[in-house]
This record gives sequence, C-alpha cells and structure tokens, in this order.
Amino acid sequence: MNFEELQKWVEEDWKHSSEKRPDRHLQLLYLVEELGEVMEAIRMFQGDKERKNNKSDIEEEMGDLVIALTTIANNYGISLTRAIRRSRDKIVKRHKYKKQT
Ligand SMILES: [Mg+2]
Repeated sequence: MNFEELQKWVEEDWKHSSEKRPDRHLQLLYLVEELGEVMEAIRMFQGDKERKNNKSDIEEEMGDLVIALTTIANNYGISLTRAIRRSRDKIVKRHKYKKQT
C-alpha cells in the first residue's frame, strides 16, 4: 500500500466508521497517544521478560501512529507522498549525496 492508497483508505474508513471522526484537536492528542504506545512497545521490547524480542507490538503501534498521522494529513489536504519527497530532498541536500529517484 502506498501513501496515496493509505490516505484514500483512511478517508473511506472514517466515512464508514461507526465512531464519529474526532475533531482536529482530539486527533492531535491521539497522535501523541499513539507515539507513546510506540515508545512503550519499544521499552517493553528492550526490557520486559515476557515481551522481550517480540516486535509484533512495535509493528502494531507504528501502524496506529501512521494512521493517526494520515488522518491529520487528510484534514489539511496534505499529500504524504509529496511530504516525504520534500523531506527526502531536504535530507539528501543536507547530506550532499545524490538521491536515487
Ligand atoms: Mg495503538
């Protein structure tokens, strides 16, 4: 799934969701909450005996985080594909190497 497909899917999912789409401020809180869950999963991965070496939780929470960010991008009509390209170009320029398309 590429970013365009993801953004369309997230938008469609909200249209068909039984839950009301949270307002923009609440969505920011969800984004931070999901970031916290990624951090917790990493902490557990590194330290908890039962969950140690289980990347499944990290993967799941990273997915939640990306979806939360995607919802916010959709609110503002931001193309994540363009956003990533801009970030990549900025990093390439900063590091002074040639980008690979
Ligand atoms: Mg989560």
